[in-house]
Amino acid sequence: MIYADNAATTKMSQAAIHTMVSVMNETYGNPSSLYGIGQQAKEVLEKAREDIAQVIGAEPREIVFTSGGSEADNQAILSAAELGKKNGKMHIISSAFEHHAVLHTLEKLKKEGFDITLLDVHSNGIVTAQEVEDAIRDDTCLVTIMFANNEIGTIQPIREIGAVCRRKNVLFHTDAVQAIGHIPVNVKEDNIDMLSASAHKFHGPKGVGFLYARKGIRLSNLIEGGAQERGKRAGTENVPGIAAMAEALKEANANMAVHAAQLTALRDRLIQGLSRIPHSALNGDAVHRLPGNVNFCFEGIEGESLLLLLDDKGIQASSGSACTSGSLDPSHVLLAIGRVHDVAHGSLRLSLGDDSTQEDVDSIIIAVEEVVAYLRSFSPVWRDLCSGKTHFIL
Ligand SMILES: *Cc1c(COP(=O)(O)O)cnc(C)c1O
Repeated sequence: MIYADNAATTKMSQAAIHTMVSVMNETYGNPSSLYGIGQQAKEVLEKAREDIAQVIGAEPREIVFTSGGSEADNQAILSAAELGKKNGKMHIISSAFEHHAVLHTLEKLKKEGFDITLLDVHSNGIVTAQEVEDAIRDDTCLVTIMFANNEIGTIQPIREIGAVCRRKNVLFHTDAVQAIGHIPVNVKEDNIDMLSASAHKFHGPKGVGFLYARKGIRLSNLIEGGAQERGKRAGTENVPGIAAMAEALKEANANMAVHAAQLTALRDRLIQGLSRIPHSALNGDAVHRLPGNVNFCFEGIEGESLLLLLDDKGIQASSGSACTSGSLDPSHVLLAIGRVHDVAHGSLRLSLGDDSTQEDVDSIIIAVEEVVAYLRSFSPVWRDLCSGKTHFIL
């Protein structure tokens, strides 16, 4: 089996599993309890907060633990919106290819009267700082632009966008779920006010993540109840998950340079191999992209069939994000970079991981070549393209 869907989720690292199990076995107290085992759990929690803060250049008190990336995105955006509303600022800037946790939250705010500007991401899948600057108005309360895209892997000029927001005095949030643990992220150097992260995208457990909010930013609670997380996120903390998340992040950070170099070489080999397939195209910028991300469109085929046949050959991949596959709509990300519906349907995302090998990559190239040729052999769309009845786009 070749697992090439690390953008959907990653396998937990052995160190993270070990930490999780040992906390479950030995530190099972409630961190809010005052007796020994409760206080030990509290220590585990606060150590995790310190470790995570250190990795991203934050202070421990600026980290709020959440149930994952989606919750962190919701809390960041809704907090900024509430602050904006109080000050009569109801304009938010984002991009057309954000994760649905961002886009759907913005849709909800639109119904409440907010004005939402979704910036164009261009054919290379990148938003520029100049475009953000041009879109900022007197009533803008938030800019939210993702660090790296989950489908096409493109990395945004976050530091420059953050600098523009600082200069214009507008809050800046970034969904860094795909970036954290994979490429360098430092909230201070990158001028970030709020940042979302999720453990299961960097070899930690599912169902746990965190929100960084620069001190001084008033967060609103999504969940009311006890006074956990300085009153900003009620509910007994997921201590084993949080400890495992911190362990996974430290490990990912320590190995980042080595893993990124290996993955970039594998990624480029895979891109080169797949580019040999006629009428195919890489989606997103070739250079400013995550080390493990490859995303292609193949003309004249249908992504879902491609995935099923690859699965038969033992290769696990995706046609977009896990949230959109299963529906027949083409990916909003591919449409945002200007792929037409028919072409966007024939897409394939391969996201390599730390244990991917060159043999894996070579097997993937052969399998994709075979499957694409096979699907084209009986595709009416392909027949029309070849006979000149319709025109090739790629
Ligand atoms: C996975 C992902 C999320 C959602 O994180 P969960 O922890 O699964 O809720 C949000 N944004 C991006 C970019 C992602 O890749």
